[in-house]
Amino acid sequence: MIQLKNAHQLAIMKDAGRITGEALALGGELVSPGVTTAYIDTMIRRHIEKCGATPSFLGYEGFPASACISINEQVIHGIPSENVILKEGDIVKIDVGAYYKGFHGDSANTFRCGKVSELADRLIEATKDSFMKGVEQIGPGKRLGDVGSAIEQRNLEDGFSVVRDFVGHGVGKELHESPEVPNYGIPGRGIRLVPGMVIAIEPMVCTGSGRVLVKKDGWTVVTTDGGLSAHYEHTVAITDNGPVLLTAI
Ligand code: MG
Ligand code: MG
Repeated sequence: MIQLKNAHQLAIMKDAGRITGEALALGGELVSPGVTTAYIDTMIRRHIEKCGATPSFLGYEGFPASACISINEQVIHGIPSENVILKEGDIVKIDVGAYYKGFHGDSANTFRCGKVSELADRLIEATKDSFMKGVEQIGPGKRLGDVGSAIEQRNLEDGFSVVRDFVGHGVGKELHESPEVPNYGIPGRGIRLVPGMVIAIEPMVCTGSGRVLVKKDGWTVVTTDGGLSAHYEHTVAITDNGPVLLTAI
């Protein structure tokens, strides 16, 4: 069942979203050659806790860290580690959630470690732009299929593919709520978007086929063909005045 949020709940979610967005930005600023992903995770955790919030991901279904940090062909759910040292040219996906006063925020972005390839650059830009194209679809009478279709079409323009095995989701008292928010769809189909809904829209986009598998660690999702992947996510509230990006700062 989709849990619609009232104005009071949305105000709290705005705070949870701001903390999430700040933690993500902080993590992004730390991306640089020679830095370990464990260090970035620690700093993200410190910021969230300093704000009186809790990292949403820490302990979620046993996840061992506060942020998911995934590099190059890793799509999502990478586990931060002292043994993973960033190097020039990496593209680094950081995904963060903060739980504050009973509600979650969820946001991700792809950061460049030094100078990246032209292909990586184009992938990162297309991924973010496709998110924006999806958000632009939100309005009276629109449905989830309009959002997903806009996201996929934008990426196809650049010859990129969207991941189909993982999707966005509702956000609220639970990190993952109904409905599922795919990055593909048929215009005019799917659940109707109404004020009070809060959804994480999160295109995961690849240079190759977009097919993925989960590694033996039980978490890290990688492309099967070794193609690069980018990720961009905000928690988006649907209001009478249009979409509001709760995790944007
Ligand atoms: Mg996320
Ligand atoms: Mg999410």
